Amino acid sequence: MKQGFAVQQMLNLRDASRGINPWWFQLVTKCQRCNKDKHYIEKCMGCLRYVCRSCQKASKSASKTNRLTICKDCWGKMEKRRAWEQA
Ligand SMILES: [Zn+2]
Ligand SMILES: [Zn+2]
Repeated sequence: MKQGFAVQQMLNLRDASRGINPWWFQLVTKCQRCNKDKHYIEKCMGCLRYVCRSCQKASKSASKTNRLTICKDCWGKMEKRRAWEQA
């Protein structure tokens, strides 16, 4: 009886862990600029894409919790670059 309970717990865990990876999780863990690197993904404030470290041109902290990152594409656009510098 006790073993049956443990199996049921494991099945519950398996189903629960399935729910941890919704479709958007895949998007966020993948660089939306080069589609390659999945590490150090941060949101670019210029184009609002999630970009990897090698696609990020610069980043700074506006506050303790708010990091401002700009990608290489937006760095080339004066408008967005200025917005990042003044932020
Ligand atoms: Zn990238
Ligand atoms: Zn950008």
